[in-house]
Amino acid sequence: MELKVKELVLKGKITEQTVEIYEKLGLDVKSSGEMIKIKSTVSSTIKGVNHAIHVEINALSVLNRVFEEGFCRYSEDNSMPLEMMDDLGNKILVYFNPRKSIKKIAILTSGGDSPGMNSAIRAAVRTAMKWGSTVYGVYSGYEGLINDNLEEFLWNDVEGHNASGGTFLYSARSKSFFTLEGRRKAVYNLAKRGIEGLIVLGGDGSLRGASILHKEFKAHLNELIKCGELTCCPYNIRIVCIPASIDNDIPFADTIIGADTALHRVVECLDNLMTTMESHCRSFVVEVMGRKCGFIALMSSIATGADFLFIPESPVFEWKVALIRSVRRARESGKRGIFVILAEGAVDINGNPIHPTEVKQLIIEETQIETRILTLGHLQRGGTPSAHDRILATISGCKAVECLFTSDDETPMLVCISNGVYRTFELEKIIQKNEEISRLQDARKYELIKENRGIFFNRCHQYSDSYCMRSSKVTIKKRIAIIHHGRIASGVNTAVDAFVHYGEIRDLDILVIYDGFKGLIKDQVTRPKFYDYKAEMKKSGSIIGSTSDTFDLDSIVRKIKQHRIEALIILGDEKSLMKIPDIASATNIDVILIPSSIANNIPGTDICIGSDTALNTITKSCDLLKSSSSSISRCIFVVEVQGGNCGYLALMSGIAAGAFESFIPERRYMIGHLSEIAQRLRLKFNQGQKQGTLLLRNENTFEKITTDAF
Ligand code: ADP
Repeated sequence: MELKVKELVLKGKITEQTVEIYEKLGLDVKSSGEMIKIKSTVSSTIKGVNHAIHVEINALSVLNRVFEEGFCRYSEDNSMPLEMMDDLGNKILVYFNPRKSIKKIAILTSGGDSPGMNSAIRAAVRTAMKWGSTVYGVYSGYEGLINDNLEEFLWNDVEGHNASGGTFLYSARSKSFFTLEGRRKAVYNLAKRGIEGLIVLGGDGSLRGASILHKEFKAHLNELIKCGELTCCPYNIRIVCIPASIDNDIPFADTIIGADTALHRVVECLDNLMTTMESHCRSFVVEVMGRKCGFIALMSSIATGADFLFIPESPVFEWKVALIRSVRRARESGKRGIFVILAEGAVDINGNPIHPTEVKQLIIEETQIETRILTLGHLQRGGTPSAHDRILATISGCKAVECLFTSDDETPMLVCISNGVYRTFELEKIIQKNEEISRLQDARKYELIKENRGIFFNRCHQYSDSYCMRSSKVTIKKRIAIIHHGRIASGVNTAVDAFVHYGEIRDLDILVIYDGFKGLIKDQVTRPKFYDYKAEMKKSGSIIGSTSDTFDLDSIVRKIKQHRIEALIILGDEKSLMKIPDIASATNIDVILIPSSIANNIPGTDICIGSDTALNTITKSCDLLKSSSSSISRCIFVVEVQGGNCGYLALMSGIAAGAFESFIPERRYMIGHLSEIAQRLRLKFNQGQKQGTLLLRNENTFEKITTDAF
């Protein structure tokens, strides 16, 4: 019978640090000034109390947190139990109870390569090593398993791969793995080394391969033992998959490794295309990847303001009429560069494929606009992974190892981010769902297919529909104005363009205010035209201007009334947020904030306009720093980044760029913690390093230590 204390009540002066310790140990904590109640959770169990409080951690993420936080750390070598002390004087002994210890793990990348795979390999190798496993990299996917192309990896073998695209383990499409004989060889090569855990990175096909391997593993192994080819004890392999495909076509996952980078590539290409299109007043039909899933096409069309969109999930009724209407309207409104985005799997309502040539011919015949085709092809897979993909991949790599260690049974699992949270799913469930979607595709049940793409995809599609002028007009009588207040964040111009575009196609009464509230007071209020901001939408800065200092409430209220503004949209940061109640209560109008802050510090939002661009800029700069120092030994860069009191940029760019440590204002640093970092740095230098080491520091992290002094 398992021993477990249901609830523990500790009395005395409860400090913040005491609460923090128990929370970080993964326990459920409720505290008042004089008392703290702690309870076991799924991730941590209070096993008993005698001379110490015994806490058993079941989740690797909690244990990692305990180590990474570096708080109350006594044992030098991560050995168990860890000893800690709360501020009440209670000794806490921490044990780790992985359901299973896995001595040997292999990792492979299979199918289409996707940028970000390398970050996942790096994270998985290092996490597994931290927990005592030997890790083998398998070269060339399943083909490498069959050909015995495995190599043991050490910590430094995976250094510096964050910034590279593709996969340094190489990928392959293995025909032999479709055969029983091929898979038997793969089992032999895994079992002869005693590999108990396998991490597979890949798309839909690779996941199916993993599932089949798992189903057959025991039988193949028994046969190999029976015929004397192997002498080990029978066992079953544990498998965890990490979805990676630029198509973003895995059910339940928000985005998967590679999709965000592919989107970056498409957007870069379209931005470049735009300059030549505008010069020649041409139109383009741009074909992007996506045989079954229209993710890249949909998202890139929103990001670039495409004039028409074709995706496999949603054939357009009478597409020829709708397309020509859109193209004509764009040209009549003065747009010089007109472009249509078409996913490679685009179909009409009868399920017939729509080819770029057909679209091109139609535009030429009906509008006489010079039209060309651009197929982006493999460019979309290439290049440096985006910050988002590196972070997603890094966390997925850690989670995959955690899942191997902690899951209850031998069911193969998949790790992904779903509705904003990292979760694990049974692999079989994902495969079945994908098969169901394929059947829906064959039966042309488009609404159901779309539903399966998730909330975000569907919301974006609704928006894109109205953008491409397919929705009916609304009769909102309100006069709505948009204004930018606060600091600059890349992306606000796209928001202004979208506001104007949307307002125009729906016949809304809209106004644009220039130069923030200062401009409002000076009557810099204009009625925009449809394509006023199109050419500017991709530029950074703020086309409509912004001020953050002026805030004379009385004058603002007077001007809002004078211009008969009935709703105000503020593109603004955390300081703008504070102004909203005053404006709303003094004017009695609706005031809405669109969070725009590179610091990503607006409460209640996952991501603010500008923060992803800032993150990518920092990450790219860090990549350059690292590579610039590749020939200098013993080199540390202390990089100070913005963010005010929010450590988002420092933390995330630290993960994306592979920093040694990120210093953030949300964390309390003690001298002991800093000297421990210095110790680790010394160790790293003594072991030899290939590239410069990065320390990322948010501008407000230490009250009294400047970056120079640091
Ligand atoms: P992706 O993983 O990008 O979808 P593929 O569909 O080409 O790429 O699959 C990658 C590899 O996974 C295949 O080359 C094959 O080795 C393996 N695989 C895919 N489907 C199966 C299957 N049904 N049985 C065994 N292996 C499979």
